[in-house]
Amino acid sequence: MKRSRNLKIVATLGPASSSYSAIKEMFVAGADVFRLNMSHGDHKTITKLHGIIRDIESEFKRPIGILADLQGPKLRIGTFSRGKEILEEGDRFRLDLDPSEGDKTRVCLPHPEIFKAIRPNSTLLVNDGKIRLEVMSCGKDFAEVKVVEGGEISGHKGVNVPDVILPLAALSSKDRSDLQFACELGVDWLALSFVQSSADVKEAKALVKGRAAIMTKVEKPAAIDQFDEILDSSDGIMIARGDLGVELPIHTVPPIQKRLIRKCRGEAKPVIVATQMLESMINSSTPTRAEVSDVATAIYEGADAVMLSAESAVGKYPVESIQTMNNVAISVEKDPTYWQVLEASRTGIRKTVPDAITLAARQIAETTDVKAICCFTHSGTTARLVSREKPKVPIIIMTPFEKYARRLCLVWGGHCEITDKALGFDDAVEIATSVARFADFGQGDDQIIITAGVPFNVSGSTNIVQVAKIGLS
Ligand code: PGA
Ligand code: MN
Repeated sequence: MKRSRNLKIVATLGPASSSYSAIKEMFVAGADVFRLNMSHGDHKTITKLHGIIRDIESEFKRPIGILADLQGPKLRIGTFSRGKEILEEGDRFRLDLDPSEGDKTRVCLPHPEIFKAIRPNSTLLVNDGKIRLEVMSCGKDFAEVKVVEGGEISGHKGVNVPDVILPLAALSSKDRSDLQFACELGVDWLALSFVQSSADVKEAKALVKGRAAIMTKVEKPAAIDQFDEILDSSDGIMIARGDLGVELPIHTVPPIQKRLIRKCRGEAKPVIVATQMLESMINSSTPTRAEVSDVATAIYEGADAVMLSAESAVGKYPVESIQTMNNVAISVEKDPTYWQVLEASRTGIRKTVPDAITLAARQIAETTDVKAICCFTHSGTTARLVSREKPKVPIIIMTPFEKYARRLCLVWGGHCEITDKALGFDDAVEIATSVARFADFGQGDDQIIITAGVPFNVSGSTNIVQVAKIGLS
């Protein structure tokens, strides 16, 4: 099975998408990476979902990426005895430390640091800023608030306190236990929420110890200020527009998105655009024009992946949402303007031999008729460098390591294959041509480009580029 687009699709799993058949349908429809949200699922549920994805992987003999998203120092309310309530403008409401389930008059807000920091007139935002509460009075364990903007409020919804600085650790004790759990389970990517500095990323990295790649979610103003250092210490970036658009004026988000995508492309690190991409599809089988345009914009900017959150986790149309993203990607990637925009926005400093080899591979693909660029990659670096070049032909990423094949499912244009270790260059050509043939990229006189490194099986040694005929089996 191979996809007919360069863009990757990340789909969050949740109650609307937790059975084997539902997840399989989502994979077939086009999901390349599944996101497991540690804020919502317990370890038992996450273990079950992880097992289902690995079973689908075996069934289709295709690597699938799994991204576990740590809650981070995200502030969330507790739960409601009726699941949810409606708050009306002008209503009085109470937030406190009492862990019992909430009702129309109160809910738990299990964060004493908020009660310490807020003052009368402070604003509290709930549910992506949709509900706006003004503090009337407060003490060390409660706040009496007035509803300024009402709406539906339900369990575990996020809280932002935009006008107060809260002293919070990068990883809560829940995050630390979730991190160990996710690494032991064998997830491929670990997303860090509410990162404020590169020190936060390094702290997590020291605990992960290479068991998963680190995806930093940019959702705090501080992360924008220190983005270069953060990008340097991360393996990938998620532009988490939900909290970003609450913490910062919403109209500042589009330029930030553009800027961060360019920086990630320059450093050859995968970047995901996330949140509210097809929000209306939570309840509707078709998206709005504006949403389709938003997905298209991320693709034109050269993002590696777009993400579905509530649309696939709790929405009525997870499969249709994936199909929509898939169709938008196919449509945009056919547009000559897409390639012109990518060309004009090429960034990155090229100075190493692997940089030069991967650039040469793209130029060969532009000059002559080839069906794919096949790259042998040990740690994934060469694959990311080829992807950075945004060639017009697919990238067949070949690695002997399942772990890297899964991580690289997020990379623009990549088709990952787990292959034997190449013993020498002739062997590499043999492996690449047979993989291209069996994965249906061409046959006979059809040509592929092969990049590899001698000595073999050493990370960062890419120094050869060759054109070969795929041949007949
Ligand atoms: P969340 O992160 O869904 O975990 O809040 C994404 C975002 O804030 O955009
Ligand atoms: Mn967030």
